[in-house]
Amino acid sequence: MKPIIEIKDLKVIYNEGQSNEYAALRGESLDIYPEEYIILFGPSGCGKSTLLYSILGILAPTSGTLLVKGEDVYKYNSDEMVRFQQSVISIIYQSFNLIPSLTTIDNVGLPLIFAGVPPGERERRAMALLKRFGVEKQARKISTNLSGGQMQRIAVARSLVNDPEILLADEPVGNLDSVSSAEVMDTLEEINVKDKKTIILVTHDAKFLPYAHRVYFMKDGGVEREVINPEKKQIKSVSPGTTILTEIEKLARIYPYISIEELKVKSIVNYLTQDIGIEQIELVEKLVEMMIEGKITKEKFAQSLMVPFSRGGLEIPFEKSLIMAQKIENIVSLAREIRQYRTRLQEKYASPKQKERIADLRKMLTSECGLAVDEYKKRWLDENLASRVAGFITMEDFLDRLSIMSEKNGGGFSLKEARIASRYLEKLIAQGVHL
Ligand code: ADP
Repeated sequence: MKPIIEIKDLKVIYNEGQSNEYAALRGESLDIYPEEYIILFGPSGCGKSTLLYSILGILAPTSGTLLVKGEDVYKYNSDEMVRFQQSVISIIYQSFNLIPSLTTIDNVGLPLIFAGVPPGERERRAMALLKRFGVEKQARKISTNLSGGQMQRIAVARSLVNDPEILLADEPVGNLDSVSSAEVMDTLEEINVKDKKTIILVTHDAKFLPYAHRVYFMKDGGVEREVINPEKKQIKSVSPGTTILTEIEKLARIYPYISIEELKVKSIVNYLTQDIGIEQIELVEKLVEMMIEGKITKEKFAQSLMVPFSRGGLEIPFEKSLIMAQKIENIVSLAREIRQYRTRLQEKYASPKQKERIADLRKMLTSECGLAVDEYKKRWLDENLASRVAGFITMEDFLDRLSIMSEKNGGGFSLKEARIASRYLEKLIAQGVHL
């Protein structure tokens, strides 16, 4: 089978020859096969969109080969390019790009106008797609009056109205809540599986990686590695052995942006320092996530951790896990208080309510970390906790201050106590962060 997209030594340089010249792609090679679901994954700025727009035919490569269905689209004349962008390839964007003054059905039917399809047929095809994606009730509404999830499903309908072979998606769920994201991602998967469209999706979110047949991990203008998803039957023929899911791939899901070398180090460190493996860490992560989101009770959390090693669990005694669950609950509730403290902090002096919050925080911190505190230390902690929580001092400042002698206006704690306390406080602050 021949690839539907062949890319070899592709370079894209912005502002070439000028002082602000920037090489966004530095000689990439990849190939994508018909009916594959490919994810281009990497942190912001690594060149994912640049690659996508080159494939779409709107960003000419500086050098290298880029063939779609065996043809160099940048050699097309304008009619051929229009035909290509109408019937071979289409794209959906993070910001939906619907035309606000048009109704939903007109938005979906828009590409058909340019293709010269008569109005009746346009309506029929647009309506069929709206029905399919569960947004037919919105057909006559102006698109601005809809939810993000609805708008993206309409944009998906529009991208399919000309029945293209390749669908590009640039962070398509970046603006959506988690429920709508899952709906749109499932829709795209269905389009890949049932409609047999080739999908190339750009994302910086590791949780979507399992949707793809293959993932190109990108970094600083380059493809760092290609990872095959062993859970999916591969379309591109792969050499035996390459679909084995290694611990490195699992670690890469936990630490998506670090290099293979660093992942190898993590794998060894995990072996040297922890009795539990990566799989068990994944289980604990899942459970902690559900605790943070309030989706499971402490008892359920503890029961899940009791599961024996032989069945992928951690064999942690029920009572011990219950204590862990309680700790999580304390952190989550204190974190909420910290967040409120931070969002209301407009004036230099804290209100009585804010002072109370800080005192609660201090009580939890001293009991959790086993710190003995006299009146001086209580006052000292309240003052410095408030500064740290409000962001007036850094975590390093706080740690340093804790261990400075009280005669020199420090907290007067031992170095060990200081480390334990500042670590706990940072956990709380991290949980309180609201992005
Ligand atoms: P990603 O999609 O991974 O976030 P992009 O492909 O959008 O990354 O951008 C890659 C790099 O190229 C970024 O550093 C970005 O600032 C730069 N870049 C993108 N578009 C332009 C442009 N039109 N002119 C100059 N630099 C650009």
